Amino acid sequence: MLNLSVLLEDGARKNPERDCLVFGDLRLNYTTVDTITNQVANLLVSRGVRPGDRVALVCPNAPYFPFVYFGALKAGAVVVPLNILLTSREIAFHLEDSGASALFAFTGTEDLPTGERAFAAYNEVDTCTTYIDLPPTPGATESTVDGAETLWAALAQQPGHFEAVQTGAEDTAVLIYTSGTTGQPKGAKLSHGNLLFNAVASDALFEGADNGHDVFLSVLPLFHIFGQTTMMNCPLYRHGTMVLQARFDGDEALSLMEREGVTIFAGVPTMYWGLLGATGEHDMERITSTLRTAVSGGAALPSEVVKNAKEKLGVEILEGYGLSETSPVVSFNNPKVKAKPGSIGRPIWGVEMKLVDSEFNDVEGEGPGEIAVRGHCVMQGYHNRPDATAQVMHNGWFRTGDIARRDDEGFYFIVDRSKDMIIRGGYNVYPRELEEVLMAHPGVSLAAVVGVPHETHGEEIKAYIIPEEGTDISEQGLIDWAKDQLASYKYPRLVEFRDTLPMTATGKILKRELR
Ligand code: AMP
Repeated sequence: MLNLSVLLEDGARKNPERDCLVFGDLRLNYTTVDTITNQVANLLVSRGVRPGDRVALVCPNAPYFPFVYFGALKAGAVVVPLNILLTSREIAFHLEDSGASALFAFTGTEDLPTGERAFAAYNEVDTCTTYIDLPPTPGATESTVDGAETLWAALAQQPGHFEAVQTGAEDTAVLIYTSGTTGQPKGAKLSHGNLLFNAVASDALFEGADNGHDVFLSVLPLFHIFGQTTMMNCPLYRHGTMVLQARFDGDEALSLMEREGVTIFAGVPTMYWGLLGATGEHDMERITSTLRTAVSGGAALPSEVVKNAKEKLGVEILEGYGLSETSPVVSFNNPKVKAKPGSIGRPIWGVEMKLVDSEFNDVEGEGPGEIAVRGHCVMQGYHNRPDATAQVMHNGWFRTGDIARRDDEGFYFIVDRSKDMIIRGGYNVYPRELEEVLMAHPGVSLAAVVGVPHETHGEEIKAYIIPEEGTDISEQGLIDWAKDQLASYKYPRLVEFRDTLPMTATGKILKRELR
């Protein structure tokens, strides 16, 4: 059987008493986590969820995430993990687009009331018929979201045994929403086989545990594929312990490393920046004595960070590369073979990379060219978007939109993004989506959004605006307009008014010049 949930079941069989999840003061062993996921699977079946149905999940890094994820997978359903910062309008779009019939959402906090936004979206979408609230207090049977049922109330009658549905390797396990170049979010279909192979092949990054028990600090968001594979599926594959941190904070991360004896950390470059800049008191000797592997991906890693990490954390950061559409890991610097600073490494086992030109001809030698990928990591296509799928797939090769060079040992070095994407603090922001919102403002004639360098976020979002003649708009007014309609990581922080924008002959805005 190839159900991805085998990762958890195997751990429960072989290491039943070992801590699977640590979250604050809560410690749950493999048996407990496996049993709760069985109850979730039984709950879904009792609510009419059938194999192939979509189950949406809005949840930060907390034990609920694996409970619902593996419970839904056991029931043969497709998990649709959503970014917890999405607005109600955006959640409703994802529910409709994926055709989700059930939604599980974390209640949230006063400053981030996830549950209220999710419940409002749920009430708007008729095809979604089950809503389950994930309350902050474990065991709580009364929800603070008016009219919602909590997970604990719903699980009360559910048995702790469930035979996982025998899914095939090509059956879809998750839909990961990504915007690609078009600005409209699309669900990349990742199968049980995609995700299982990616966890197994990526495990080479973590080889060589001293005592066979690794402790992972899982702070990369699990709703994003980078966190999901490397900080949830990989730890389960090696029967490790996941220490969950809901929101990144450098000092808190170091305290958790110290307390739990963390051996493996993976993050985006801005998290390393946060770890290195943390000013609190920590027993660095203890931290460096257990930490043995640090991995970075998702955006280019500045060499300054690599150098400082070696001094403070005592480890060489290994850089890897991947995308939502590739489950995600495509390549990394394999510590056992060879690593090169500044490189995204070489393809993982079972995956091929090559460079192509804009007509999809092979680019020989050093390049540069666009990276194309083939192998077990490549998605099944975009959910209900044959045209968008056809744009990126060519005879089994997936076009990444990333431009790279390659050296004579086969190491790849990213030089540019052909995609029009901004990465702000680890979150992908697609200018097209923002431009559409800005252009809908009556005072805007033309909007062009670009990323500009930023010390802590890597990139900051800046909008260049040509105002509509005769209208009176302010920078702050436009920022507020966008803020009302977009998740907090997406709206532009900087606005500049211009009379003209640089254009190509065909009328495309020359964003490179604006940057
Ligand atoms: P996502 O689909 O959210 O995983 O974003 C994938 C994109 O992140 C890729 O297409 C790259 O542009 C970027 N990316 C991932 N890893 C790296 C890396 N190591 N260096 C530079 N860019 C990266």
